[in-house]
Amino acid sequence: AAKIIDGVAVAAKVRAGYRARVEGLKARGVVPGLAVVMVGENPASQVYVGNKVKACREVGLHSEVHSFPADTPQEEVLQAIQALNADPAIHGIIVQLPLPPHYNMRRLLEAIDLSKDVDGFHLYNVGGLVIGETVFPPCTPYGVQVLLEHAGIPIEGQNVVVVGASNIVGKPMALMLLAKEATVAICHVKTRELAQFTILADILVVAAGRPKLITAPMVKRGAVVIDVGINRLPDGRLVGDVDFDAVKEKASWITPVPGGVGPMTVTMLLGNTIAAAERQLERTLLQGSVAAGRTVID
Ligand code: NAD
Repeated sequence: AAKIIDGVAVAAKVRAGYRARVEGLKARGVVPGLAVVMVGENPASQVYVGNKVKACREVGLHSEVHSFPADTPQEEVLQAIQALNADPAIHGIIVQLPLPPHYNMRRLLEAIDLSKDVDGFHLYNVGGLVIGETVFPPCTPYGVQVLLEHAGIPIEGQNVVVVGASNIVGKPMALMLLAKEATVAICHVKTRELAQFTILADILVVAAGRPKLITAPMVKRGAVVIDVGINRLPDGRLVGDVDFDAVKEKASWITPVPGGVGPMTVTMLLGNTIAAAERQLERTLLQGSVAAGRTVID
């Protein structure tokens, strides 16, 4: 049977490292700050935002939630983002998705200052991902990458199949593993004969949002199976996209749902926010020494 990749344990370990970095920043007078912009009253979003605020508190980050009713004019939300761009107490800004239908998501995401785009959804950061020079890796695929690293799973030269091609999970996942020189295929809802692709995977990442989409015959013996899916069954149970009980008998490593990728996503958001604060501090120090006419020696 497969070894279980314990996302709760890895997330705890990563967060311990983050706590030390936050202490380091605090010693230099900086408290990393995350701002969440939320529009409307999507119940799932409220739960996710609550988790982000709680995680910030646990690791020592400042966080603030800017909530707007669903009928707020877009200009008002844009102004709030601009104010956060200029706020030195805020190092990371995210717009909680999905937005109510009449908002222009791209306009809001493109309004975020590049140095504070901790979800990595600004087109500049998407472009960085394409050329393998990512500043802020999108949190869910970043979490998967860190899980693979912690399990000591090599990526270079491996056959990777990503099932799901969304802009927030599937596509950035594929690009990140391509940057690590895996051979990557991306499958999606229009893919014919999905199993012909999945069976080739040394590493199979599934992010489709379909319970039991991946069954044991679709998985190569010894494959690493990463299940990003989160599905609520009619009986209330939370399951992934992989038929876990059957596939774990064939895989070498597998992530459970819950307790796999889920705990990593929020963790990586903290990581991106801390990195943003560190970079902004470096920049301030640099500007300070240039302004004082001193030579900068690093
Ligand atoms: P999405 O709906 O935006 O995209 C789903 C993708 O899967 C699409 O590209 C679609 O073509 C593909 N797909 C759908 N049905 C398919 C099928 N039968 N065969 C092959 N491909 C199929 O979803 P998303 O935002 O990318 O999220 C995917 C899943 O991951 C959802 O269950 C979501 O809840 C979960 N998710 C989890 C986390 C986490 O932190 N663990 C984060 C984000 C999303």
